[in-house]
Amino acid sequence: MFIGDAKLKTEFSPNVLTGGLTAYIKSFKEVMFDESEVKKFTEILAENKDGQNILSFYKHVKDVKSRYQDNRKCPKCGGELIKRIAKKGPIAGNEFFGCGNYPKC
Ligand SMILES: [Zn+2]
Repeated sequence: MFIGDAKLKTEFSPNVLTGGLTAYIKSFKEVMFDESEVKKFTEILAENKDGQNILSFYKHVKDVKSRYQDNRKCPKCGGELIKRIAKKGPIAGNEFFGCGNYPKC
C-alpha cells in the first residue's frame, strides 16, 4: 500500500494499492487461513505494534529524511558534495555530484 500522492509508474500486481485498502480486504470472502495461522499473525502484529520494530521504522524514516534533506552533503558520510564530470560509464562527460571524501566514503 502506497499512501499520500504516490503515483505508480510501472505495472504492479493488483495487490499493490494506492487506495481502497478496506474495500480490497473486504473483497475476500473465502477463509484463507486456519486458526493457528491467524493466531501466529496476530502475535506477529502485536509484537510489531508494541515492540521496537515500529519505533525503529519511524526513526529510520526520520533519519532518511534528514540525510536527504540537504543536497550539499553526502547522505552516506555527511561529507561535502563536489561537482565532478564522469570520465567513464553510461554518463561519461556529464556532471554529477560526488562525495568529497571519495574514495574513503
Ligand atoms: Zn560520503
